[in-house]
Amino acid sequence: MTKAVYPGSFDPITHGHCDLVERAARQFDQVVVAIAHNINKQTMFTVDERVELAEKVLAHLPNVTVIPVTGLIVDFTEQQGATAILRGLRAVSDFEFEFQLASMNRNLKPDIETLFMTPAEQYAYISSSLVKEVARFNGDVSMFLHPLVLERVKQKLAAQ
Ligand code: ADP
Repeated sequence: MTKAVYPGSFDPITHGHCDLVERAARQFDQVVVAIAHNINKQTMFTVDERVELAEKVLAHLPNVTVIPVTGLIVDFTEQQGATAILRGLRAVSDFEFEFQLASMNRNLKPDIETLFMTPAEQYAYISSSLVKEVARFNGDVSMFLHPLVLERVKQKLAAQ
């Protein structure tokens, strides 16, 4: 059985993330979307909210599960019995950090492979942060978010 872990903040999940998960779900028997508690990032949504949104948005994919993670992704990947970590590459600007991360993870656990995937072109320039930024100023981001996620983003912004 092939199993991959796709870690990230998913604050919130966008169509870019979803596009990657759908591609990965066709390549692996199982995909685990690992939602990280990231102490260095101030998030709009709590981990529980991010998990709930990702579960709902990805509910149509039977071989995908969503799990919150604290600690090292390589340890989690091993505990899950997965052999690969998936990351998305949008532009060259992602490369330097992703290269560092993949090299560090390989150093920590040489048996776990980091694999990179690119999204469909229409999602190649979006990130959760950019979408939140545009939404904050009432820009239309409906083409990048699931309607439920869009609604929740609007609620958060209204409450601020
Ligand atoms: P992190 O804080 O780990 O970067 P993100 O949720 O921002 O968490 O991203 C998780 C992963 O998904 C990263 O590998 C990132 O490059 C990738 N990703 C984010 N947005 C997109 C997108 N639009 N297309 C493809 N990959 C993406």
